[in-house]
Amino acid sequence: MSDRDGTIWYDGELVPWREATTHVLTHSLHYGLAVFEGLRAYETERGPAIFRLREHTERLLNSAKIYMMPIAYSLETLMEAQKAVVRANNLTSCYIRPIAFYGSEKMGVSPRGAKVHVAIAAWPWGAYLGEEGLQKGIRVKTSSFQRQHVNVTMPRAKVASTYANSILANLEVTSQGYDEALLLDTMGFVAEGAGENLFLVKNGQLIEPEIACALTGITRDTVHHIARELGIPLVSRRLTRDDVYIADEAFFTGTAAEVTPIRELDDRVIGSGSRGPITEKIQARYFEIVNGRAPEYDHWLTYV
Ligand code: PMP
Repeated sequence: MSDRDGTIWYDGELVPWREATTHVLTHSLHYGLAVFEGLRAYETERGPAIFRLREHTERLLNSAKIYMMPIAYSLETLMEAQKAVVRANNLTSCYIRPIAFYGSEKMGVSPRGAKVHVAIAAWPWGAYLGEEGLQKGIRVKTSSFQRQHVNVTMPRAKVASTYANSILANLEVTSQGYDEALLLDTMGFVAEGAGENLFLVKNGQLIEPEIACALTGITRDTVHHIARELGIPLVSRRLTRDDVYIADEAFFTGTAAEVTPIRELDDRVIGSGSRGPITEKIQARYFEIVNGRAPEYDHWLTYV
């Protein structure tokens, strides 16, 4: 991230942006074990609010538990710290990145003996797949790289090493001019995007791939609630890539990607080739909720 003013929470203290540095021999840089989160704070009438702060912080601690990383801070402390970072940087809407990683006390595969550090940064970040993508939909290609098997990495953990797999897939398809990659699992069934979960719409029904090797997205869970509220039936089942080709609508979900329509997969136009009507309804409701315009979901907003 380029040089700038600002404040980062680092091991319990708010420090100037430029001083939040770490040694090049930090263990996580060499062996890839760092657990992290991505959250968004949105501008609301009552000031900036972090969306589903508790759920993201719980997932961070669960990721650490899966990888046996002892984090010295409680759920409450980490939640307060994330609020403090948004406040300290005077941000009205932003992306928030907490990360726990091993320090430079030792080398070698085992992290035993290295200290776990926690840092939290926040910065403004617009639509991850572009404003136009949110409105018109994006072009997706199935990657030749498969989503890592459930016994290769741990799919419930949001861990840096998994993103090497995502990066291979994303670079492969974006270098061919597509916007984002879809990954299949090692059996050949649809798993997820490089940084998003997938939903299809077929005959008025919402369909999602079984979650086995994909991240259990918090946006995905939000969409489950929205579907229930709008009376749209939801099924989870194994999906093949041609299920996506013949869907009426498809969209990606993620904190960064929000609800992004998919207009093409592997050069097949999906449905009408633009944002479908059910996707549009779900997307509109999503933005009402995150922007504090849906009082029934106020419990998901933490005002900073
Ligand atoms: N899958 C992957 C691989 C991701 O990186 C993300 C983004 N965190 C998601 C799914 C969506 O998760 P969430 O909705 O919790 O951001």
